[in-house]
Amino acid sequence: MQNKLTISKDQIQEMIAHAQAALPNEACGILGGHAGRVQTVYPGENVENSPVIYRMKPQDQLRAMHAIQLSGGDLLGIFHSHTNGSTIPSETDISQAHYPDAVYIILARPPNGAWKTFGYNITKGNIHKITLQVEPGPYVG
Ligand SMILES: [Zn+2]
Repeated sequence: MQNKLTISKDQIQEMIAHAQAALPNEACGILGGHAGRVQTVYPGENVENSPVIYRMKPQDQLRAMHAIQLSGGDLLGIFHSHTNGSTIPSETDISQAHYPDAVYIILARPPNGAWKTFGYNITKGNIHKITLQVEPGPYVG
């Protein structure tokens, strides 16, 4: 289980840009990397087209998983947005969390507010807050 995730400021901006473009619906995607450090953000399409739930398009998910495997990395995170500003995983998020080793990132945007990011481990219905260590600038491998 990860208790920390290192991510660059640019990668957070990438996730936020994807979430902003998907408004008013939720956006989602996957984070790949090594040793708890995010290397690549893989945005996905939310096939639910919904402001309250998300399901990543299977082809997008497979493509991301394949790219992560080819790079020798790990699935480090799964992100999605909350357009109602809620900063914690919903009941649905918790019941559908099938990757206990991944960090679930929530991008929360209060009405007319700025996006904020929160990280969680979700294991067997329990949520545990994770520290997102944000580094300035782009990813440096
Ligand atoms: Zn959610």
